[in-house]
Amino acid sequence: KFISLEGGEGSGKTTAIQFIQQWLEQHSIPYIMTREPGGTPLAEEIRQLILSPREEKVNDVAELLLVFAARAQHLAEKIQPALDEGIWVISDRFLDSSYVYQGKARGGDVAVLDQLSRWVVGENKPDATLLLDVPVELGQERVVQRQHQDRLDKESLSFHQKVRDGFLERADVEPDRVKVIDASQSLESVKYQIEKQLVQLNNA
Ligand code: C5P
Ligand code: MG
Repeated sequence: KFISLEGGEGSGKTTAIQFIQQWLEQHSIPYIMTREPGGTPLAEEIRQLILSPREEKVNDVAELLLVFAARAQHLAEKIQPALDEGIWVISDRFLDSSYVYQGKARGGDVAVLDQLSRWVVGENKPDATLLLDVPVELGQERVVQRQHQDRLDKESLSFHQKVRDGFLERADVEPDRVKVIDASQSLESVKYQIEKQLVQLNNA
């Protein structure tokens, strides 16, 4: 089974992944954890190209193509081989992040994203994508607590709003695959919602 985790800042993705890991271990299910952009040495190099601070601004089109280049490598070299052996793959972000960050937030054309998705990912989409959804204000509050910041600028709030809206649109487009987890709830509730999806997948 192939599961991706998606969500904006402060959505609790890292905690959710730790919980999934514990659940898989309790059920003796073989799995690998991976992430995007990245997941293989070459794809991690591409991640550095995109995310490391540098003087030269990464052009939006270049970024979109780099993310898909990393994804092609990640799928071929890590995800597919694991799935072929019956190993579960849990990816911290995958295709939907491209629709959201390269698409919705940075203006990438949805038709282009659809085409790249068909070409690069094809039928190899996740069996389930768990979308950790929180209102932007709450997500930012959690980030502030984590980083001990005391203020946030307006521009970043509108960016985060686009990110949240973009993810919810993905759930509207593919409701059978993208499962919205209400991550504004208590940790116990979030874990329960995730466990329900894991049980369903394991029985499918
Ligand atoms: O939240 P996480 O630790 O996964 O952070 C990775 C960051 O990389 C995101 O906050 C986002 O800004 C960026 N990213 C991106 N495009 C993707 C995936 C991640 O811009 N396709
Ligand atoms: Mg994180």
